[in-house]
Amino acid sequence: MRVTGLPPYDPNNVFAKILRGEIPSKKVHEDEHALAFHDINPQTPVHVLVIPKGAYCSHADFSAHASDAEIAGFWRAVGKVARELGLEAGGYRILSNMGEDGGQEVPHFHVHIFAGRRIGRMVPREAG
Ligand code: AMP
Repeated sequence: MRVTGLPPYDPNNVFAKILRGEIPSKKVHEDEHALAFHDINPQTPVHVLVIPKGAYCSHADFSAHASDAEIAGFWRAVGKVARELGLEAGGYRILSNMGEDGGQEVPHFHVHIFAGRRIGRMVPREAG
């Protein structure tokens, strides 16, 4: 059963194409469960995306349907990428946008890793 209200996974989304090697990426890590690469439009001096290899459209989908091994492998990869990029001393932020209110643009679950400067407020002030 899929998560109610979510569209089905689109195999033509840009991260699916990166996983299939159809478009290039600046890869920083790859293992059985995850791929990590530099964001094409970095918001901080270090801005890396970590994606699971499975076809999950969002965190809602991933957390509900991925196996324990996929979830453990993915989150260990997030930590490993940050560690191997040397981000632990200065610190970093991880973030995942989900759905419309979360501002998710690419419908393949991904975690952003931001680092390299003081990132500021957790959530920008906005009316509403
Ligand atoms: P989100 O808004 O959380 O869905 O984030 C999508 C992210 O994917 C944005 O930060 C984009 O800059 C990034 N992005 C889109 N296309 C590519 C690409 N081909 N390679 C690397 N990053 C990309």
